[in-house]
Amino acid sequence: MSYAEVSVNSPVYHNRTFSYSIPDGMDICPGQAVWVPFGNKTLQGIVTSIEKLPAVEETRDIGAVIEPPLILSTQQLKLAQWISDYYLCPLFDALSTMLPPGFERRTIAYIYPAKDFEKSQPSNLTAEQTKIIDLLRQKNRLSIKDLEKSFGVKTAQAAISRLISRNLITKSYETAPIRVKPKKETYIELAIDSAAAEEEIQRLYAKRAAKQAEVLEFLMESGTAALSEVRKKIGCQTETIKTLTSKGLVIIKEYDVKRQPFSYDEIKKSSHLKLTAQQEAAFNEIQTSLADNKGETFLLHGVTGSGKTEVYLQALAEAIKLGKRAIVLVPEISLTPQTIDRFASRFPYRVAVIHSKLSLGEQFDQWHQIQNGQYDVVIGARSAIFAPQPQLGLIVIDEEHEWTYKQDNSPRYHTRDVALKIAELNKATVILGSATPDVSSYYNAKKGKYRLLEMPERVTPKEGSPLPRVEIVDLREELKAGNTGIFSRLLEYEINNALRKKEQAILFFNRRGTSTFVQCRDCGHVLQCPNCYVSLNYHSDNDFLLCHQCNYKKRTPKKCPACGSPRIKYMGLGTQKLEQETAATFPRARLLRWDSDSTNGKDSHKNILDTFKKREADILIGTQMVAKGLDLPNVTLVGVVIADSGLNLPDFRACERTFQLISQVAGRAGRGEAGGKVIIQTYMPEHYAIQATINHDYAAFYAQEIDYRKQLKNPPFSKLIKMTYIHANDVVCAKEAERMKKQLLFEMESNGLFGIDVLGPSPAFIQRLRGRYRWQIILRGANPGELLSKISIPQGWIIDVDPVGL
Ligand code: ADP
Ligand code: ZN
Ligand code: ZN
Repeated sequence: MSYAEVSVNSPVYHNRTFSYSIPDGMDICPGQAVWVPFGNKTLQGIVTSIEKLPAVEETRDIGAVIEPPLILSTQQLKLAQWISDYYLCPLFDALSTMLPPGFERRTIAYIYPAKDFEKSQPSNLTAEQTKIIDLLRQKNRLSIKDLEKSFGVKTAQAAISRLISRNLITKSYETAPIRVKPKKETYIELAIDSAAAEEEIQRLYAKRAAKQAEVLEFLMESGTAALSEVRKKIGCQTETIKTLTSKGLVIIKEYDVKRQPFSYDEIKKSSHLKLTAQQEAAFNEIQTSLADNKGETFLLHGVTGSGKTEVYLQALAEAIKLGKRAIVLVPEISLTPQTIDRFASRFPYRVAVIHSKLSLGEQFDQWHQIQNGQYDVVIGARSAIFAPQPQLGLIVIDEEHEWTYKQDNSPRYHTRDVALKIAELNKATVILGSATPDVSSYYNAKKGKYRLLEMPERVTPKEGSPLPRVEIVDLREELKAGNTGIFSRLLEYEINNALRKKEQAILFFNRRGTSTFVQCRDCGHVLQCPNCYVSLNYHSDNDFLLCHQCNYKKRTPKKCPACGSPRIKYMGLGTQKLEQETAATFPRARLLRWDSDSTNGKDSHKNILDTFKKREADILIGTQMVAKGLDLPNVTLVGVVIADSGLNLPDFRACERTFQLISQVAGRAGRGEAGGKVIIQTYMPEHYAIQATINHDYAAFYAQEIDYRKQLKNPPFSKLIKMTYIHANDVVCAKEAERMKKQLLFEMESNGLFGIDVLGPSPAFIQRLRGRYRWQIILRGANPGELLSKISIPQGWIIDVDPVGL
């Protein structure tokens, strides 16, 4: 007998596999999806290995192979193990990223009437118990989930367990039904030749069976047709078709049809552009590497408008030529029809799309078609990295610095790191592209881990076009001059200028920065934590300042510690307020607001963008969204309303993020013949993250930033793990966090692990979310995961390895 180690899809935190015996005659291999008994349930599992001996004495048999069979490849199993080890998540969570859409099936708990239920006349029942009994008499089966919804979890569970112990009801589990299947369509075709059909038609008309005759006529004309279409056109009953079938005149057939997320009908084929010299240089390096199967990673650092996409497109063509396939990842927000078109038009009918907004049926069909090798290129957001693309030879990650590449629930992977691991397992080439690379990526490129490709010049509107000119406005000077409004004199002048010339403007405002930091209105000084050099957060309830990294606390000072001015206060401004002010200052301008509040509907992003493109608005006001890959040639002015608010977030990446956002939004200006200009308003004009944007100088920003990272031992000079404990009670929450810290320190000591900083516990940046409190601990060191893998972590903790926000 042999045994299988199985990773089981159980909601209980399981970071291990379970041993099962393989019944004689059952054919099982590693990677196979199986049904296994687990307690009193039957659950899905993935076989991770076949063993001669089980890990425990008593084993149960594997129930069955899941149909249709699914077998994950050795590489996929290795990848899942790596994700589970590195991100400290349950193995099945890691495996589930690779399963077909709709594959996972939950188990549903039901209660049923017990044997002598009908005869029983139970007494002393609570109101809920009586209600349950009544419902059971009507329905004979109730889902416990539903009962929990109507009575509340605790009440429902108490009532159910009491009824079970009184032998009035029983409980059992069933697997939820399959949510998605291949779509079949029924077709009808003639079973006889056309001469015979002619004759039959005459005969049928003579017999006044006109409908039957019409069906045959229709089929003579159209050949095979969808049954639903025939029935609609002719308006005939099912009976008519049945009669024709039984006479052997027509045949009914079923075919698989594929649900397609988009149609190629309106997409025109595009061909390669002639590369500019810098594109050519970058492309040549990639081409050689692809041909040599070196599995290298490139960092393509190209300014906004340098034509990175054309390099991707030609690299993809090259990979296809070599018989390889590819995956292209873009941030969720840029996965617009325009982006998809750019790829689909170059490789007609060869591009699949995967993202969360597709219907389950579309996802299911795309997944299976990809697995069958039907597409050369898969394009998608984050999760598309797990597409079952055979012969994977190239992975492109556009805007690689984007935070949305980090998954925010288990498994909390970073797409870039998963991509690198997949590339390593498949010897695939990776291209990471960005105008403002992640500081860690650039560091890796500098260190030789990635190959750096630079494209410092724009191609739009023509080769060698300059990047837009950037001007900085010192808001403190505005205040001194008596201007307390949102718009500096320069920005107001330039907006009027653009309006007069019938050009368009974008006003960018980073709302995430409206957190409640405290700033001096005279000198711009922001109150910072003396330990962490992140800004302190203002808590209005007790009028104190708090560091959300180390929990340092202090009273809000009455005077600015830098200049002694009493005019210190917390900052706050929203896009809606900005819109009102803009309307008041430029009454004739047509405004358009683009932020998460103005985009609730499905197509609202597209609608806003279309309106602006059609020049039905003059000024677009927005948050992060307006910074992303928009190519709007009529935009000549970009105004950053307040650049430094993001700098004051309690996060060591605040400067990097601010620099990236400002650079990206600045890149929206001047893509047309009319050129462009960027105006940045700030209280901190000397700040290096602001200074570097003046000349679009990534190198200068990087040099300073990497120096700070080194001094403060932040990534890439260390790794971070964020541990968050969530509880409805703030005191319990803080206590558990305190206990965990002690345990961590103890384990560190007893395992002889040194050089790991345990920061906190402190309240999380958003301390209270949906009614529950969150306290966090940050681990910082060369390999903090080693420490965590040594302890068992209670329920309620969230472990985030390499967090993107603190
Ligand atoms: P990036 O992604 O680097 O910001 P894009 O790839 O969006 O830049 O390119 C900007 C514009 O330049 C696009 O309209 C694109 O079609 C055009 N473009 C890119 N490469 C070339 C080229 N070699 N010749 C002509 N136009 C090009
Ligand atoms: Zn001051
Ligand atoms: Zn601190």
